[in-house]
Amino acid sequence: MAELAEADRYLLEQIDRGNKDGWAQLVQRYQGRLLAFARSRLSRKAEAEDLVQDTFIAFLEAIKRFDRRLSLETFLFTILRRRIIDALRGKRLKLTYLQETMHGDRDDMEDASSRLEGPSMTASWYAHRAEDANLLSDALGASLNALVGRFREAENFRDLQIVEMLFYAQLRNKDVASVMKMDEKAIALIKHRCLNELRDHITAHARLNKADSQWLASPAWESAEFAASMVTQVWEAQRPTCPKRSTIGRLMLGTLDGTWKSYVEFHVNELGCRFCRANLDDLQKQTDEAPKALHERVMHSTIGFFRS
Ligand SMILES: [Zn+2]
Repeated sequence: MAELAEADRYLLEQIDRGNKDGWAQLVQRYQGRLLAFARSRLSRKAEAEDLVQDTFIAFLEAIKRFDRRLSLETFLFTILRRRIIDALRGKRLKLTYLQETMHGDRDDMEDASSRLEGPSMTASWYAHRAEDANLLSDALGASLNALVGRFREAENFRDLQIVEMLFYAQLRNKDVASVMKMDEKAIALIKHRCLNELRDHITAHARLNKADSQWLASPAWESAEFAASMVTQVWEAQRPTCPKRSTIGRLMLGTLDGTWKSYVEFHVNELGCRFCRANLDDLQKQTDEAPKALHERVMHSTIGFFRS
């Protein structure tokens, strides 16, 4: 969930005061999952480590611009992701396993960020975008959270899975229908309803500038593909459905129950969200290494028994 954790807030305050220990703790807290994410895309271990190091340096350089209402983890992942795309020379970086299975090497699928820069983008939209780039994204982010929150509260995990596949994994209606064993038309209807709900929520709650309001009411939003790529871009930046790291830990330990468990399993294993996979890999590694550390401690404290 896109929200600054208490521990992160504390560490950032330490860093603001120039406290090196706070920084060391922050690096310790995030290096494992960042490395797991980089390693999933880059075969050379040294290269992955270099990019993680660059990410931390870039974070310190950008720390004043970090919006502290948002998740620190997502911010770090975003920096790292851009560096990986650079390292792959602009090759696409799919964020979910399901995208890879479904799309294979389809070349018309790209990162949402690059799709938005495509020819479908109107010049006038871009012009006002530059003026007040974050206003609409913020409003859309809040509306996405409301939509996701409503699905969760109602335990409507079916629709939650569908919107993840549509807007996060960018699957076609047809592919979502086959995963869900549903009719393609039913998927199209859910997509249409969600986009309408998002637009209505933005209109009702956000204070937008005139250009944004006009754009939202224009036929551009009605073109589902265009609106969806806009939603995808904000989705990727805010990850509204990613479970907390502690929840991923509980999935690993097998202590989740019922429909919630099935949903988290879907997100992490079937959809295969790479950010959550990175957390899972990191948690598993920590678990694997813990006995080794304990072993060393026990050996160290008992060595006296064996001295002659
Ligand atoms: Zn996730």
